[in-house]
Amino acid sequence: MYTITVISGDGIGQEVVGRALKVLDAVAKKYHHQFTFKHALAGGAALDAVGVPLPEETLDSCRASDAVLLGAVGGPKWDNNPPHLKPEQALLGLRKNLGLYANIRPAKIYSALLDASTLKREVVEGVDIVVVRELTGGIYFGTPRGVESKNGEAIATNTLTYSESEIKRIAESAFEIAMKRKKKVCSVDKANILETSQLWRITVTAVGQKYREVELSHMYVDNCAMQLIRNPKQFDVIVTENMFGDILSDEAAMLTGSIGMLASASLGGKVALYEPVHGSAPDIAGQNKANPIATIASVAMMLRFSFNLQKEAEDVESAIQKVLDNGYRTPDIATANTIRVGTKEMAEQICSIILRQ
Ligand code: NAD
Repeated sequence: MYTITVISGDGIGQEVVGRALKVLDAVAKKYHHQFTFKHALAGGAALDAVGVPLPEETLDSCRASDAVLLGAVGGPKWDNNPPHLKPEQALLGLRKNLGLYANIRPAKIYSALLDASTLKREVVEGVDIVVVRELTGGIYFGTPRGVESKNGEAIATNTLTYSESEIKRIAESAFEIAMKRKKKVCSVDKANILETSQLWRITVTAVGQKYREVELSHMYVDNCAMQLIRNPKQFDVIVTENMFGDILSDEAAMLTGSIGMLASASLGGKVALYEPVHGSAPDIAGQNKANPIATIASVAMMLRFSFNLQKEAEDVESAIQKVLDNGYRTPDIATANTIRVGTKEMAEQICSIILRQ
């Protein structure tokens, strides 16, 4: 029996999480597991209901669960809220309070989707990258921060700080992941300009001494942004700090055809959190157009990392592969001669394959 705190959030979060729970129901039915879902509020939904983006009850529920599934938060309704009342504060609060310092984002191209990528087939064929992003440090959390008025104009400040121990633990996560893959780590920084990046490079290199089998390279972030488009196959594991990882993992997502395909796991604390990489997509919310695969693939990561249910995880992943091979596509990945389906129908196809295979 596994207890999962479910935070659907806002916009398409509601739709894709609802469908991912159906997939967990299918897994439970097939393998005789029991998943208990505890629904909790965060983001705009929490602001509307109780006036704060991350209620204490939500954190308590997460801490008392075996894993957390999150959809997405945010939307235009709350865009003009003051900073501490923005839905996105919930994300930072969850990461910090649950100690989730390692964000794992795989970007693997499905062969059936080669033509959905905006890049040429020969560039993206075989791409299989994991971006390991530091999640609880860096400029998103550093202080001082804020906006003040000086000499008649507004001045905004954010602070970028990293400690050696923060860098060491994320580097270790990256090397451990690389050991189970092609044994290649590319550490991305801006060491030609930033002191934090210089410490990052020295610390990652020192950690690398313990993993002699792993080939370690360093790359500046601007070059990495370019290399991801030029020759993405050169990468296996990319490890980088919070903001660079935020940007590069969205770029890596597009190699796979759509941000609607990309799953993530945030690890490091007692309870891990799983969520799609995409946001709440207000432009398509409530229209049955959202691709649920990123959230369903996040559930597969939950089965693997939090519950150690390897066979079940593989089952979900192979069902996603088969549905794509069978030609089913949500609008974001649809091309000529494919079968256009909505969020609900895509998830139903995946569930029915899980129950049949
Ligand atoms: P977004 O990821 O929500 O959308 C970007 C584009 O991708 C949109 O055109 C959208 O329609 C499309 N898209 C996203 N997910 C999709 C899916 N599953 N299927 C098909 N198409 C999909 O990013 P944004 O527009 O920059 O942000 C919208 C809101 O989401 C903002 O309030 C932002 O702060 C928030 N956000 C939340 C998270 C999170 O909760 N983890 C992450 C990013 C953005």
